[in-house]
Amino acid sequence: MMLINGKQIAATFKQTLKNKIDTHINQTTHRRPCLAVIRVGQDAASSVYVAHKIRACQEVGIESISIHEESLSQSQLLACIERFNQDKKIDAILVQLPLIKGIDETHVLKSIDPRKDVDGFHAIHVGHLWQGQLKHTLLPCTPQGVMHLIRHVRQDLSGLHALVVGRSQIVGRPCAQLLLLADCTVTIAHRYTQDLPKLLKQADIVVAAAGQPGLIRGEHLKTGAIVIDVGTTRIHGQLKGDVDFESAALVASAITPVPGGVGPMTIAMLLENTWQCYLKHIGI
Ligand code: ADP
Repeated sequence: MMLINGKQIAATFKQTLKNKIDTHINQTTHRRPCLAVIRVGQDAASSVYVAHKIRACQEVGIESISIHEESLSQSQLLACIERFNQDKKIDAILVQLPLIKGIDETHVLKSIDPRKDVDGFHAIHVGHLWQGQLKHTLLPCTPQGVMHLIRHVRQDLSGLHALVVGRSQIVGRPCAQLLLLADCTVTIAHRYTQDLPKLLKQADIVVAAAGQPGLIRGEHLKTGAIVIDVGTTRIHGQLKGDVDFESAALVASAITPVPGGVGPMTIAMLLENTWQCYLKHIGI
């Protein structure tokens, strides 16, 4: 069994990105890339995630601006995003979710200039993804990270049966589409799926993104499956994935741990997307 060490794979990815950024800065007169992060409210997990993102920017030489307001009206938030949209020194904008009551997340996310929409949530990116026009899109960070981890185990995914558990806009659906583009046969399971164990037994690749700790156990899996656990539920201060790691590790050929699997890769992809926004913004 291979442990897919997301932390290490992300570290290597970040080092390569840092080298690219340093080389670019040394060889040109351009400024460094800059990511703006907006957080509203008092969600404790969001505070930790934002801190990780800012630190990751520093590691690779991306500048960042971070704004935190405990309470903000929707129109104030939209005004802030508009300022960042116009700011020529900002390449990428991230609005940390969840927002607070009274703010319409969909409306807020729509107001980010698609060229700076580093999470790739804008309908224009989603549309390009579903058309398979990956060159023109910013891919959402977690699904992009998931694909990196799968490719780390195996390059050619053609014809494999991939099961995505969860159908959220942010994780499940885009993961399914990326696996489809990689020529997998894709099944999407969700809370109304009738026989999840039966589907799991058929799956060569399992992407678990249901937010249900321990939903998937070793006895459900096909021998040799590649298992990517996107679940992160906090129980007594500890992060728990959707997969029961101990039993699954006995059956899978490769599996990600939680924490230290998908999480670090998601952050690495945020940096990559910021870099991509920057290159387009400065006209490269
Ligand atoms: P995330 O942001 O990680 O994708 P969400 O909470 O937005 O998580 O979505 C959870 C997804 O998981 C939903 O699509 C839901 O239908 C699916 N789901 C929840 N419970 C189960 C379950 N027991 N079996 C299969 N899918 C589930």
